[in-house]
Amino acid sequence: MTDFAATKALFHLPEGVIYLDGNSLGPLPKAAASRVAQAVEAEWGEMLITGWNKAGWMAQPGVLGDRIGRLIGAAPGHTVIGDTLSIKVYQALASALALRPGRKLILSDTGNFPSDLYMAEGLIAAFGQGHVLKTVAPEAVADQIDDSVAVLMLTEVDYRTGRLHNMAALTAQAHAAGVLTVWDLAHSAGAIEVDLTAAQADFVVGCTYKYLNAGPGAPAFISVAPRHAEAVRPALSGWLGHEAPFAFEPQYRPGRGIERMRVGTPPVLQMAALEAALDIWEHVDMAAVRARSIELTELFIAEVETACPSLTLNSPRDSARRGSQVAWRHPEGYAVMQALIARGVIGDFRAPDNLRFGFTPLYIGTEEVRAAVAILADILDNRLWDRPEYKARAAVT
Ligand SMILES: *Cc1c(COP(=O)(O)O)cnc(C)c1O
Repeated sequence: MTDFAATKALFHLPEGVIYLDGNSLGPLPKAAASRVAQAVEAEWGEMLITGWNKAGWMAQPGVLGDRIGRLIGAAPGHTVIGDTLSIKVYQALASALALRPGRKLILSDTGNFPSDLYMAEGLIAAFGQGHVLKTVAPEAVADQIDDSVAVLMLTEVDYRTGRLHNMAALTAQAHAAGVLTVWDLAHSAGAIEVDLTAAQADFVVGCTYKYLNAGPGAPAFISVAPRHAEAVRPALSGWLGHEAPFAFEPQYRPGRGIERMRVGTPPVLQMAALEAALDIWEHVDMAAVRARSIELTELFIAEVETACPSLTLNSPRDSARRGSQVAWRHPEGYAVMQALIARGVIGDFRAPDNLRFGFTPLYIGTEEVRAAVAILADILDNRLWDRPEYKARAAVT
């Protein structure tokens, strides 16, 4: 069993704040501050360039990748960190397309995160081989999988609504039609139980600054199924994905297995924060996280429906079809969220009218859920959102 009171004590949570946005940026693990300071002072400061060997910086992308791999059911030695998620989406998609040279169709859904779709668009233009991106409604994806599709590219949990795709079933259906899969776990890793190996997923990507709590700008991860590991061309052929980076050969040769998905110099300071964040996960059982997350989201939905009749649920009601976040629609959603934040309840807003709340059992319990609903109801009942300063849009919503 996971002791959630113990995990909560491992995070710095500002006084008076109920943080329901850990699905977008996880809070600071207390140990990360000293771990980063150590990387700055004792490693960078004292070791200088020898830190690449002495402090193990060069091996860290694979070491940390494997620790994430354990949380998502990846085979050991097949996950690596680096770059940002958008870049890893590009790399995974390009690699998958190269394994299906005769097919031109990329299938995705209209609920996918825009950056994933934008990266596909850019890749199609750069390839210049006549690939086509087709997006259909999330519920229609299964009907569109056939042998004209090269790659099925989906985000498992919808960033806006929390709607959850059935990764194992869609992957099995894709494989039966000779289609490869790229799954984005941005809102899955650290939020729900994932078993890549059981699902036979081909390429998997995700980020570490959301539910994994590694801090703003923390690197992404990529995992490639062992059966593709030695066949895949990494698309972004950087020197640290070369078989022998320090041979400085003029021509690219892919490194062994997942090593080839590395591109350039890894972010050492950000990896120190990630390392501290992952220490917390060592003592966490994902089944317990999922069970508690369902308890919290169900409580939140029930309480909001009772106390806030002007909000409309924009997430699946069935918890088996929902990730760890809940969205509500309100015509003045942006202003309502600003008023909430002013009262210490931090969620976020996603256009056009979604109030989005993430539930993270490592540091959120039923008490916080009830307190947040009381504040939300007060804001709605008394139109406290109806002030000009809550309607002026900031750059980040
Ligand atoms: C958060 C998120 C991203 C963000 O990509 P970055 O390159 O890390 O900014 C991309 N895709 C999905 C599905 C996301 O949820």
